[in-house]
Amino acid sequence: MDTGRYRVEPGATLDLTDHDPADRALFDGDKDAGRKETRDLNKRLEELQELLYAEAKHKILIVLQAMDAGGKDGTIRHVFDGTNPQGVKVTSFKRPTPRELAHDYLWRVHRHTPGAGQIAIFNRSHYEDVLVVRVHDYVPPERWQRRYRHIVEFERLLAEEGATIRKFFLNISKEEQKERFQSRLDEPHKRWKFAKGDLAERRHWDGYMRAFEAAISKTSTETAPWYVIPANRKWYRNLVISKILVETLEGLGMSYPDPEEELDGVVIA
Ligand code: ATP
Ligand code: MG
Repeated sequence: MDTGRYRVEPGATLDLTDHDPADRALFDGDKDAGRKETRDLNKRLEELQELLYAEAKHKILIVLQAMDAGGKDGTIRHVFDGTNPQGVKVTSFKRPTPRELAHDYLWRVHRHTPGAGQIAIFNRSHYEDVLVVRVHDYVPPERWQRRYRHIVEFERLLAEEGATIRKFFLNISKEEQKERFQSRLDEPHKRWKFAKGDLAERRHWDGYMRAFEAAISKTSTETAPWYVIPANRKWYRNLVISKILVETLEGLGMSYPDPEEELDGVVIA
C-alpha cells in the first residue's frame, strides 16, 4: 500500500480538484475486507503505542482537520481503538475563549503538544487560525498571511525537539457533507451533532477549499507532512490513516528499554 499517494510533497501546490474524495486506489477488497485489514492494523498500532510509551523517547503529534461532518471524531474512535488512554491524549480546539484570544494563537496550542512517550491528537488545531479565521476575515489578511510562516517554524521547533508530526485533511465532497448533515437531522440520536451554524459554514465551502489548499501547500514539510485522505468512505479513511500511523511508528526503530540489571532468575517469594 503506497500511502505516499496521499502525501503532499513539500513545496508542491495542492489543487483539491485533483483529489477524489471517493478514491480507494490503495485497496482492492470490499468494505468488509477493508475493515478487517484496519482491525489488524489496530492490533499493530496498539503494540507500537505500548512500545512508544515504554521507551518514553519519541513524541507523536497527529493533526486532524476537515470540514464539518468530515469524520474527525470517527477517525479518532476507530483508528485509536484499543490503544492505552494513558498514552494518548485528544485535544479538541473550539472557538477561542476571551483569555485565549488575548494571547497569540499558538499560546493555547503549545501546552497540548505531546510529551515523551505520548501521542497527542489534535481535533482541529492551530490551522483553524488560517482556515476559519481567513474565510471569515477574523483578522486582517496581513496577519493570517504571516501565520503560515509561524506555523512552519513552530512545527519545526517541535520536530527538532523530538516530535514526529503527521497531519491529515479528511477530504469529503460537498455532496457527502450534505448526506451526513441530512442523516444527522433524520436520526434523533444524531441530532445533537448538528449545529445550525454548520449550514452557514457550508455556504463558504469554496472559500474553505481555497483556504485548505493554501494552508496545506504552504505548511507541508519533510518533518510535518500533510496527507489528503479520501474520506467519503469511512472504512477507507480509517484504513489509510491506520496504515500511515503504523508505518510512521515502525519507522522510528523503537525498542523496549533494558530492564534493571540482574533480573534474570529473580523469583518472587
Ligand atoms: P463536532 O464534529 O462535534 O461538531 P467540532 O470540532 O465541529 O466538533 P464544534 O464545537 O461544533 O466542534 O465547533 C468548533 C468550532 O470552533 C468550529 O466551527 C471551528 O471552526 C471553531 N474554531 C476552532 N478554532 C478556532 C479559532 N482559532 N478561531 C475561530 N474559530 C475556531
Ligand atoms: Mg461542529
